[in-house]
Amino acid sequence: MTLTGEMLIGFSAVRGTEGEQRAFCPAYNAEIGEPTFGLGGRAEVDRAAQLASAAFDTYRNVPLAQRAALLDAIADRILDIGSELIVRAHAETGLPVARLEGERARTVGQLRLFARVVRDGHFLGATIDRAQPERKPMPRADLRLAKVPLGPVAVFGASNFPLAFSVAGGDTASALAAGAPVIVKAHSAHLGTAELVGRAIQQAVKDQGLPEGVFSLLFGSGRTLGEALVAHPLIKAVGFTGSRQGGIALMRIANARPEPIPVYAEMSSINPVFVLPHALANRAEMIGKAFADSLTMGAGQFCTNPGLVIAVDGPDLDRFVKATSDALAVKPAQTMLTPGIFDAYREGTKNVEAVAGVTKVAQGEPAGEDANAAQAALYVTDAQRLLASPELEAEMFGPASVVIRARDVDEMLKVAEHVEGQLTVTLQIDAHDHADARRLLPVLERKAGRILVNGFPTGVEVCHAMVHGGPYPSTSNAMFTSVGATAIDRFLRPVCYQDLPDALLPDALKEANPLGLWRLVDGEQSAPDRHAATTSE
Ligand code: NAP
Repeated sequence: MTLTGEMLIGFSAVRGTEGEQRAFCPAYNAEIGEPTFGLGGRAEVDRAAQLASAAFDTYRNVPLAQRAALLDAIADRILDIGSELIVRAHAETGLPVARLEGERARTVGQLRLFARVVRDGHFLGATIDRAQPERKPMPRADLRLAKVPLGPVAVFGASNFPLAFSVAGGDTASALAAGAPVIVKAHSAHLGTAELVGRAIQQAVKDQGLPEGVFSLLFGSGRTLGEALVAHPLIKAVGFTGSRQGGIALMRIANARPEPIPVYAEMSSINPVFVLPHALANRAEMIGKAFADSLTMGAGQFCTNPGLVIAVDGPDLDRFVKATSDALAVKPAQTMLTPGIFDAYREGTKNVEAVAGVTKVAQGEPAGEDANAAQAALYVTDAQRLLASPELEAEMFGPASVVIRARDVDEMLKVAEHVEGQLTVTLQIDAHDHADARRLLPVLERKAGRILVNGFPTGVEVCHAMVHGGPYPSTSNAMFTSVGATAIDRFLRPVCYQDLPDALLPDALKEANPLGLWRLVDGEQSAPDRHAATTSE
């Protein structure tokens, strides 16, 4: 496919006139030649938002089978791009080819999962309380609830997952599954990858005979085009993955609108790992080595990277630190996604090193000629220092972590109480640690969206039970997840229909249950009568 550097607004390719940008190769620290990408502004935001709004009622009312077919078709069209997509993403991000192939499989799998979610129809939350005309002292009306999409959604692609959290990533897939048109603001760190995937989605929308406003892709700066998108009155929700600063800026804009809208921002997290005493005594070396692998995976550029390890001080912790240090010492430096992210990593590690009482105990192999390669680093300090130093809780987005020496398990509990909201917390435990784990768990449930035992948090399964969310500041809204089947809930709201004639009800709520859904009827789960159900699709 020939890249043109044009935005995709509905079915049109539009050259932006608010400036130009070339894609950048972080491994060679150089711009990539043709094409230049034309950046858009308010006019393009307005055009895309008008088209999305015009498409909304048609798109949300197409049969569920057609909505699901769109998601499957996007997956197929992405696979059709072939190796060109991987080659381009590799050039633009420095991420290894094998990792990108895995990420493509995840992206396609995610789209197909949402296609199944749509076909299943459970997400509609169909609930029926039938009329009780004889009820005393007052009769009850017929009340029926189903969920409807919020309206057009703006998606900000993430830098660190150029496929799975970007143009056709989880936000886009879940919003389209909910019945919402999507406008993506491409991340400037992978513009060509964004265009390739955007064209695949555009083609799928055309092939399915859907209105053009179902999808648009815009290029432009966050501060101009991005802000205009969130402020646009026809946009009804926002999905974002990135920095805390960026997420908070978008939340402010959304809240200041005459009609405030939800911003589902997934921001920073340091993902504490609590190593309990028996696990530490029995497996210090094994845990240390696995921790070093998790910390350096993908140059540490994961929102679930383990940035803090807490354990009771003593010889067992010394063994853990030594094993981790030995493993880190032979980890090669890895190219980061952008020079900006590399600078932020260097700044973050400097800030930690500047805290009195923090010691750097290990580092990975040096970067050599690679201008944007991150060297892994491990720091050690004590719990009192952590409790007094907010700098130690800032996300170092990259392969660096701080080990906290606690006096005892009570002090580990204090650290657990102290840390901010997180995407994940991890417990390393053996059977004799269960009593201490039981004390920690109620605190950890208040702090994180996912609690893991004897694993490491990097690696987020896309499935029905996944929660990739958590209390602020890890996300802007702890009630939702941005990964997994229930990510669709972010873009839906319930509507209750009172005493509507059957013919006017949505199919999900009609008495004959034509969609064949499981429904909650008068408080009881009601199975579909598969023989009676005739699909309207
Ligand atoms: P970012 O700077 O937050 O940018 C993400 C997206 O939001 C970009 O499209 C950016 O536009 C836009 N944006 C940023 N600030 C904005 C603002 N004030 N108003 C409107 N739009 C704005 O994130 P990044 O570039 O991916 O990485 C930078 C840092 O984010 C990293 O160093 C790391 O700390 C953090 N990060 C965290 C995660 C996570 O999952 N927790 C993932 C990735 C990155 P532009 O194109 O103009 O930049």
